[in-house]
Amino acid sequence: MSIERVDTLVVGAGQAGVAMSEHLGNAGVSHLVLERSRVAEAWRTHRWDSLVANGPAWHDRFPGMEFDADPDAFVSKQGVAEYLESYAKMINAPIRTGVEVSSVTRLEGRPGFRVETSKGPIEACNVVAATGPFQTAVIPDVIPTKSALRQIHSSQYRNSYDLPAGGVLVIGAGSSGVQIADELNRAGRNVFLSVGPHDRPPRAYRGRDFVWWLGVLGLWNMETPAPGTEHVTIAVSGARGGQTIDFRDLAAQGITLLGRSSAFSDGQLHFAHDLRRNIEGGDENHLNLLRAADAYVVANGLDLPEEPQAHHLGALPVCVTDPILSLDLAKAGITTVIWATGFGVDYSWMKLDCFDAAGRPIHQRGVGKEPGIFFLGLPWQSRRGSSFIWGVWHDAKHVADQITTQAKYMDYHAKAHAAVTKPAETHA
Ligand SMILES: Cc1cc2nc3c(=O)[nH]c(=O)nc-3n(C[C@H](O)[C@H](O)[C@H](O)COP(=O)(O)OP(=O)(O)OC[C@H]3O[C@@H](n4cnc5c(N)ncnc54)[C@H](O)[C@@H]3O)c2cc1C
Repeated sequence: MSIERVDTLVVGAGQAGVAMSEHLGNAGVSHLVLERSRVAEAWRTHRWDSLVANGPAWHDRFPGMEFDADPDAFVSKQGVAEYLESYAKMINAPIRTGVEVSSVTRLEGRPGFRVETSKGPIEACNVVAATGPFQTAVIPDVIPTKSALRQIHSSQYRNSYDLPAGGVLVIGAGSSGVQIADELNRAGRNVFLSVGPHDRPPRAYRGRDFVWWLGVLGLWNMETPAPGTEHVTIAVSGARGGQTIDFRDLAAQGITLLGRSSAFSDGQLHFAHDLRRNIEGGDENHLNLLRAADAYVVANGLDLPEEPQAHHLGALPVCVTDPILSLDLAKAGITTVIWATGFGVDYSWMKLDCFDAAGRPIHQRGVGKEPGIFFLGLPWQSRRGSSFIWGVWHDAKHVADQITTQAKYMDYHAKAHAAVTKPAETHA
């Protein structure tokens, strides 16, 4: 039985797989996208019910299509999934859904890879792993799983009704942690929020959303500071039309802020004495952006309304100035712990010499160490925006360029080889 062969195989049909398909199609590279579930599955089922995009519709999209929504609105997660599905249809992306890739190995003695899938093997000259920046839930080993508490990761949280009655401790104060804590507090839960270092841009300043400011100030294009640098936690929210995250407001609404969760013993969770430092670090980041925005306005003579009150942050709440350093979780009535502590990756299905000791891809702007292997959608793949909808589109263009460049070398080789062998055949 002959084996199916493709030039370039893309694994995963989230935004990265769809963007990759668009650029490969534009470059005339024949390709196939395999997706184990549905297009944009992560947006459909791996996130909580009420999630909306963290950026407005005019910004968090591909250049080739607008959302069917108010450009300044924050689209629901379902809306994002539908957008990506429509986009894939618009570009006629060759996507096969319901096909899982279980292994990729290098072919012996010739270029290319053997790809085992749930629907049979495929051979490919190139493989692009577009399996997501956030693949596996990371839960630090702090609270023993045998304790009576229900412990879940933020990717498993759906809504407050799903949780057992009682108080909730949310650990991690990036966008997921603060949004989940706020939602549970509004649902009447007694909420504790363990806060680590974070960035905290204003939702909007002088009439422009923070995504605009980060864009014009070149901050989305910030390059990876050092190999392996991870995603920086940004505490932002598009919920209820988009609000600035200020931990003072969360405390005023009844959420108890805590430092970083550090250790657990005899039913007590201990917290680092770093809450004030973390809150003040976030404040500094907030104020720095306001100052940079003001300087940009002056330098460019923009007519944007002044907003001096945004520079005045209120007093720190008591839970920050006199922080709780250990908490008996049972006595505090906490029945659920939600770990909003980020994600890891799992490339164990790629049986290739392309990963560091921690299992992270070794690559340069998505070009893997192993010739013919590419990655897309990694946090900080080329810049800060790489794992976001608009950023991955640009990285996909670069990866497609690299694939076509390599194809040209192989074309040259094939032609040069033919030129050498042809005279020999003529004389024979
Ligand atoms: C809570 C949350 C909110 C976010 N909000 C925003 C936002 O507002 N704006 C923004 O720009 N970004 C946002 N992001 C970041 C980013 O846009 C998303 O994480 C996005 O899903 C990443 O897209 P991706 O295509 O790279 O990966 P994914 O969406 O994870 O897609 C990877 C795909 O690969 C498939 N797959 C994996 N392994 C295999 C296999 N072995 N075989 C076949 N298929 C496989 C999966 O089923 C999946 O569909 C958010 C992230 C999170 C976690």
